[in-house]
Amino acid sequence: MKALVLGYGVSGKSASHLLKKQGYEVFVYDDNFSVNVPLDVDLVVKSPGIPQNHPLLEKLRKRGVEVIGEVELAFRFCKGKIVSVTGTNGKSTTTALIYNVLKKSFDNVFIGGNYGIPFSSFVEETKDKSITVLELSSFQIEDLINFESDVGVILNVTPDHLNRYSSFESYAEVKKSLVNRCYVSVLNYDDSVLKNVSGNVRFFSLREKKDAYFDGKFIVVDGHRLLVEDLPLKGIHNVENYMAASLALLELGLEWSVIEEGFRGFKGLPHRVEKVGTVRGVTFINDSKSTNVDSLKKALLSFNDIVLIAGGVDKGLDFSPILPLLEKKVKAAVVMGDMADKLEKLFSSVVPVEKAETMEEAVKLAYDLANGSGTVLLSPGCASFDMFKNFEERGEVFKTCVKRLEAEIES
Ligand code: ADP
Repeated sequence: MKALVLGYGVSGKSASHLLKKQGYEVFVYDDNFSVNVPLDVDLVVKSPGIPQNHPLLEKLRKRGVEVIGEVELAFRFCKGKIVSVTGTNGKSTTTALIYNVLKKSFDNVFIGGNYGIPFSSFVEETKDKSITVLELSSFQIEDLINFESDVGVILNVTPDHLNRYSSFESYAEVKKSLVNRCYVSVLNYDDSVLKNVSGNVRFFSLREKKDAYFDGKFIVVDGHRLLVEDLPLKGIHNVENYMAASLALLELGLEWSVIEEGFRGFKGLPHRVEKVGTVRGVTFINDSKSTNVDSLKKALLSFNDIVLIAGGVDKGLDFSPILPLLEKKVKAAVVMGDMADKLEKLFSSVVPVEKAETMEEAVKLAYDLANGSGTVLLSPGCASFDMFKNFEERGEVFKTCVKRLEAEIES
């Protein structure tokens, strides 16, 4: 049997490895090294980064070859239960939250998918009693065929990746299609794309009394109450993540006391509204993982008296809906990257704006604009690839610049 792996990044490498172990003769194609690959293969495993209209893919499909994604490939070898988590924002946080709670009760728990650990890299270790928590991006969902999961979570569907989809509606359809692959789905009732979904569904809401809801102080689920101010992850978006995780974990049969204890023990992931430190009265927050308008909005809602650092790759997103919030919460903004000019033009209608060429310059400008109080918030609302390798590097550079500024000022 011959298999062709399209795209040789982290998941492509892992898929190749799994296929070889399963006895396939494996060929690899990647746009970065053009080699002639055979088309008379039995299976094509496509990496999520390869667009559906890639010319080679079109040729292979015409020949009738089965094309699947790396997640679908791994699923075919998976034992035990699967919890899948998708949404525009909050996937990694909620995936990690669910995983950390499960780990306290079970031995054989796995985390992966879009989380940075390919499903195929650990799938052969799964057993009948395993639970695998998978973060799924829309690109991964597109390439599923027989994939099924015991519990599925969709946190929200807001505009993103519009450079890859023909419309918001087509992006939303892909996200929503996960429901058809899950025995039970946990959905956000406040999200207009999700609220009308029917079937075996459990809803959470910040506004209405659904299966899990927030009463302004407590998260209420199945007669249990959880005081939000006692929980480690801050911000209204994390209330949503806690509610979604609660419902998913209850579906898996966990005791409430275990869920509560697990939530208290999970301190969050770096680069998501992460506190870096305070320099002479100014607090620095690293939210480098904010790569779209909704995550930027959620970060703004989490603080007051803000100097915002934003900008990066232009994905065609419309930032104008956040102008009223910007006016209310932000005293100045520093913009950078490919989006700098567009954001400067837009933001300057409501707040003073400066432009920076480097992160170092942005941090210094923002510190000066803060004028001894409030929060300097890096929440770019854009992808990082114009200036950095990825969001992690952008966040690390930000943290280094803050430390350097602190050393300069305190010396
Ligand atoms: P994802 O894996 O979907 O990108 P992350 O947990 O890594 O999600 O968070 C990405 C960004 O979205 C961060 O800026 C984070 O603060 C913000 N965020 C986290 N949860 C939510 C949510 N439920 N709704 C909106 N934004 C969120």
